[in-house]
Amino acid sequence: MARAAKAVIDLAAIKHNYLLAKKLSSGNQAVAIIKANAYGHGAVAVARYLADVADAFGVACIEEALELRAAGIEQPIALLEGFFTEDELALIEQHRFITAVHSQWQVEAIVKCAIQTPIQVWLKFDSGMHRLGFDVEGFAAAVTQLKDLPQVAGLVAMTHFACADELASDYTEIQIQNFHAACDQFGLPVCMANSAATLHWPSTHGDWVRPGIMLYGASPLDQKTEAAAQLQTVMTLSSALIAVRELPAGESVGYGRRFVTQAPTRVGVVAMGYADGYPRHAKDGTPVAVNGKITRVIGRVSMDMMTVDLSDQPEAQVGDPVELWGTQVDINDVAACADTIAYSLYTGITNRVPRLYVER
Ligand SMILES: *Cc1c(COP(=O)(O)O)cnc(C)c1O
Repeated sequence: MARAAKAVIDLAAIKHNYLLAKKLSSGNQAVAIIKANAYGHGAVAVARYLADVADAFGVACIEEALELRAAGIEQPIALLEGFFTEDELALIEQHRFITAVHSQWQVEAIVKCAIQTPIQVWLKFDSGMHRLGFDVEGFAAAVTQLKDLPQVAGLVAMTHFACADELASDYTEIQIQNFHAACDQFGLPVCMANSAATLHWPSTHGDWVRPGIMLYGASPLDQKTEAAAQLQTVMTLSSALIAVRELPAGESVGYGRRFVTQAPTRVGVVAMGYADGYPRHAKDGTPVAVNGKITRVIGRVSMDMMTVDLSDQPEAQVGDPVELWGTQVDINDVAACADTIAYSLYTGITNRVPRLYVER
């Protein structure tokens, strides 16, 4: 028998969530964001499965884009941070990648490059994230330089939100106004919305949306909404009990003796640890499901194992199934107990964990 740790990935749920993004944005074009190995879900597997519905895919860098082309993915692929060095432009032309352009040096690289087949450029305006993008004057200058250039097939105006997940924040409206004030005059197609904006801020939907985390079934929103309730869970991270023991009151469990039993306690040892990507910072009390029943993590997570409270499950035994997150345990609840976010948990799953693809 092999170690039971695995991540089961429901591809049909990803498709449902992608189509939900399109439906919420009134049938807009949607870039399925599959950077970082599709947030840990396997970029090639996800892209192949979505190939018949996806308008485009979005990745962080040309290496990720080339991996998709090598796997036979033919859809448009957007490089969300554009090119890092100007020698990438030849590959962008060859593979028909869409490139973001966020800096003046990138504009100049396009102006002086010898491209035969014009490329699609998504010009990034900094509406308030203050990470990448042009200011008002820089954006206007970039449009002027690029719009009639033979190297450029078309421009899209793009921006990114800092707080779209915070439903009570007024900052998204401020960013929207900044964007319109700077960009509307050029009449370009608009691409603003990440998952949070796709789910909650309809005035950001524009012509293209860029859903990422929602494809994987986790809501980024800080409150529950009807739209987010329609997301389907994609990944179930599970394993099994490999030992069960009874400890008397006053005994500690695991490294550092973080947890000490208050009463006689039945303890389950699970084959899952931080070397699999389970967060080491998960507190005592982090939810986990054993045999479909919610219980809690007790004791520090170690590299290959972790310990759970089986006091309410006298019948639990070695081999019984444990869900770390999935349909029974909300990944956002685990993330909250580990001072992190679902994005970080998904992308942290390591190669030791086999990914198994299903269509439910
Ligand atoms: C990662 C990314 C997204 C997707 O964000 P989610 O919050 O996962 O939906 C959208 N746009 C850009 C530019 C990104 O880098």
